[in-house]
Amino acid sequence: MARTAVSGRLAWRVARLAEFRDETPTARTLVFDLPGWPGHLAGQHVDVRLTAADGYRAQRSYSLAAPSDGDRVELTVQRVADGEVSEHLTGPYAIGDPVEIRGPIGGWFAWRPTDPSPVLLIAGGSGIVPLMAMIRARRAAGVRTPFKLIYSLRTPAELYYADELRTPVAGMDVTYVYTRELPEGRPGIPRRIDVATINTAGWPAEFGASCFVCGPTGFVETVADILVALGHDPHRIRTERFGPSRD
Ligand SMILES: Cc1cc2nc3c(=O)[nH]c(=O)nc-3n(C[C@H](O)[C@H](O)[C@H](O)COP(=O)(O)OP(=O)(O)OC[C@H]3O[C@@H](n4cnc5c(N)ncnc54)[C@H](O)[C@@H]3O)c2cc1C
Repeated sequence: MARTAVSGRLAWRVARLAEFRDETPTARTLVFDLPGWPGHLAGQHVDVRLTAADGYRAQRSYSLAAPSDGDRVELTVQRVADGEVSEHLTGPYAIGDPVEIRGPIGGWFAWRPTDPSPVLLIAGGSGIVPLMAMIRARRAAGVRTPFKLIYSLRTPAELYYADELRTPVAGMDVTYVYTRELPEGRPGIPRRIDVATINTAGWPAEFGASCFVCGPTGFVETVADILVALGHDPHRIRTERFGPSRD
């Protein structure tokens, strides 16, 4: 990452919406033009600030959904009922509209393609966003680092990045865990991620995998406890909690 990434990190920059894609009926990927962006690592996040006509401001954190790509930055926002910022970004916010962004933020919850250790990604709901940036960074760098993804979601309709994740990728296994409704024809009953899931779909602890866990606070704490109980080195477990974020 360029030196400017450090010096200009906390500066607010004006971004404009260049394009968007609906991932699900309630989640939208927003692609911004962000002149002067210093670059980022997969896993980092930004602050987004909205300013109303009367000067009222609201600011929230959002993970970067794709690896660094010049002046283009991608976020995926899940609409939260009555959410001040997410309802705007997934609703009336239109192509060409401005927003302020600062970052990148967070150097610990980040994956570098130069790290050869196997990787275990565990996502709860919209927690898939920074983990998808890591999957995409792996592809962009052309490395073969072994990846496993365990993705917990309520129903099949809530799957983000469906086409990309359903395309088989050499060296990457994906396991879906549905907590409320299973895809048609899939045997079993809805359930939550538990010890057995991670034991079967994750890496054995002795492989020394880098573990990245992201989602709602309770989900992250449960999964991190399971990883430690299974013998994973706590120093190799990195977590990001998507709790409510306010300025
Ligand atoms: C480091 C970090 C990265 C994040 N990355 C993403 C991301 O990539 N995509 C994404 O969609 N969100 C992400 N979030 C969450 C995001 O910052 C906001 O909290 C979320 O969009 C809701 O903001 P809002 O203004 O719409 O809701 P608010 O007006 O702040 O809240 C409305 C109501 O929803 C509840 N609420 C707020 N946030 C959440 C939440 N996350 N889960 C459940 N209930 C909530 C509040 O308690 C309140 O009752 C991230 C949070 C953090 C801390």
